[in-house]
Amino acid sequence: MTDWSGPWPAEQDQPPWLIRGARLLGGAAADLLLAGGLIAEAGSAAAGPAAAGSLPAGAQVLDATGLIALPGLVDLHTHLREPGREDAETVETGTAAAALGGFTAVHAMANTDPVADTAGVVEQIWRLGRRAGRCDVRPVGAVTTGLAGSRLAELGAMADSAARVRVFSDDGRCVSDAVLMRRALEYVKAFDGVIAQHAQEPRLTDGAQVNEGEMSGRLGLAGWPAVAEEAIIARDCLLAAHVGSALHVCHVSTAGSVEIIRWAKSKGWRVTAEVTPHHLLLTDDLVADYDPVYKVNPPLRTAADVAALRAGLADGTIDCVATDHAPHPVEAKETEWQVAAFGMTGLETALRAVQEAMVETGLLDWAGVADRMSVRPAVIGRLDGVGAELHGCPLVTGSPANLVLYDPAARDVVDPAAHASRSRNSPFAGMTLPGRVVATFLRGTPTVLNGKLAR
Ligand SMILES: [Zn+2]
Repeated sequence: MTDWSGPWPAEQDQPPWLIRGARLLGGAAADLLLAGGLIAEAGSAAAGPAAAGSLPAGAQVLDATGLIALPGLVDLHTHLREPGREDAETVETGTAAAALGGFTAVHAMANTDPVADTAGVVEQIWRLGRRAGRCDVRPVGAVTTGLAGSRLAELGAMADSAARVRVFSDDGRCVSDAVLMRRALEYVKAFDGVIAQHAQEPRLTDGAQVNEGEMSGRLGLAGWPAVAEEAIIARDCLLAAHVGSALHVCHVSTAGSVEIIRWAKSKGWRVTAEVTPHHLLLTDDLVADYDPVYKVNPPLRTAADVAALRAGLADGTIDCVATDHAPHPVEAKETEWQVAAFGMTGLETALRAVQEAMVETGLLDWAGVADRMSVRPAVIGRLDGVGAELHGCPLVTGSPANLVLYDPAARDVVDPAAHASRSRNSPFAGMTLPGRVVATFLRGTPTVLNGKLAR
């Protein structure tokens, strides 16, 4: 059996690539020479590697005229479903979806079966990611054993394992017990870990189905009040400050949450936050026809919330975009609203949705997109240090060759049937979105070329 715990397959053996005329972060056109897993040379199109006339032997050339080059995207919040729900997604199909979306690293959430709450399970997921080879898979460890919320999981053993877990979350469930949350925050300080909280006060959301407000009243569905999210975020910010530890808030969905996080950051506390592409683009008006494709946790909110989330991402209160890619088989979604599963796919549409919500509106430029979808999530996920799995680096000579080439001028209708994800529950199905991922490179090796899987 192949031992996947060894060093990466020698990137040195990969043929070099010369990328010609890509607009770095949407700015000036430049050439990038990728060799030995690194950006071996980066320069203006006039003086760059192509102009030097010294193309290395065997180099392949990619004409990137009109394309934007961004550092490979990093997702802090992906549900890969393996082990246990391979009918919804596998590490293989989920990382294919990630690569097609421009991602070079994803954090795999712990709510698998078995739960990723031991060194054994997180190492298994990490190895499956390496075997698939399409993007780096960083397992997220559970905070509590079995996600049961009663006692801490083996946080230290997961941190010390080959998977080197640094992000811990019971996502799907909230660590609602304040004492457990405090202990978890204290525990991860020793190895610079972070607790990623799914902020949902369980008693306030018992049976909740949609955002509490006009729509829940009209549809006769149990409402999901904003305060159920905001109360937990406020409590956790205070706890993180009290113990001097790092809190990350998953999928912020309300205007009030943005205000609380802004306040916590103004105090200098170690609090970071993410927002999903769907919460940046969609509102609860969509649930009017009881179509469960729009059923998600936390729920779609109001237009005022969407505006606050966009403003919070633009001004940096919300650090990053994370997909909360949550694949479900057809039978779990194409059923009655009340019994349908919560969740939406997102890896293959994330960058396009962010272009629509943030770039087309003038709220972020492409350097801002690179910051919110690569640089900052890499820092929060502790992928900015040393070692092979280094992400969120600038596109300069010497950086790991993790990057995406993107055509912002493309525009077409989202068709989940064409997605690599095993599941089809995209809320953007049938919507016209801008943009197209043309190529993705992981340490100099193409995982996507011409919009299709390269390996
Ligand atoms: Zn969640």
